[in-house]
Amino acid sequence: MVTRRTIMAGMMGLAFAGRSASVLAQENAMADKVSTPGGDLLVHPVEHASLVLEWDGKAIYVDPVGGAGLYAGLPPASAILITHGHGDHFDLPTLEAIAGDAPLVTNRDVFEKLPETLKARTIALANGEAGHILGLPIRAIPAHNITEERRRYHPAGIGNGYVLTLGGAGIYIAGDTEPTEDMLALRDIALAFLPMNLPYTMTPDEALVAINSFRPAIVYPYHYGDSDLAPLEAGIAPGLELRLRDWYPNGR
Ligand SMILES: [Zn+2]
Repeated sequence: MVTRRTIMAGMMGLAFAGRSASVLAQENAMADKVSTPGGDLLVHPVEHASLVLEWDGKAIYVDPVGGAGLYAGLPPASAILITHGHGDHFDLPTLEAIAGDAPLVTNRDVFEKLPETLKARTIALANGEAGHILGLPIRAIPAHNITEERRRYHPAGIGNGYVLTLGGAGIYIAGDTEPTEDMLALRDIALAFLPMNLPYTMTPDEALVAINSFRPAIVYPYHYGDSDLAPLEAGIAPGLELRLRDWYPNGR
């Protein structure tokens, strides 16, 4: 059912965006399935740090930037998560173009930058705080650098990662972070999106140590720029699944 809905949404997108049927078919084929106790979750990598999760008829947008055109083939947003205020995670024109009447979860910094109309349906979560969006549990995980010379990029206490629970499955979207104690303390993560580019986040080698420590069942590297992801393939612990996808279909 989810697949049929996605295809229908894709066809509607076709009418508006003028994309070719083959491009849409390709996009839908690229959406990955993840089984949860509450039904299939579809993962749509969009670009760099932007993604859409589709579950139970809901489309959850994460860090949508890059203009509305990037989202034309996807179902409209049911909810939007924003990790922090950097331009590759938060772009007000994109947000205003795609938000519809979707509720939002952000950090405090982004909340303060929103117009009143969006603020009215936005929950600002501080690091460590928990809430609900669309009735789904969500928790803000601290996202920041820990290496001395990188701390200026993401100081502690500002950015969020999120653990969203969909159908009983914990989905961790890390945001821009290094392997913090909070990340390493996570348990029972079904699916993790982890950034790996310098100088802003961590190296694939650092990510690998974290992955093999907190053991998310499925890992999507994202926000990786031109990092060499080969160490992940070579070193990921048995039983964990690495999903390498093209997060830069329009170049870096
Ligand atoms: Zn950032």
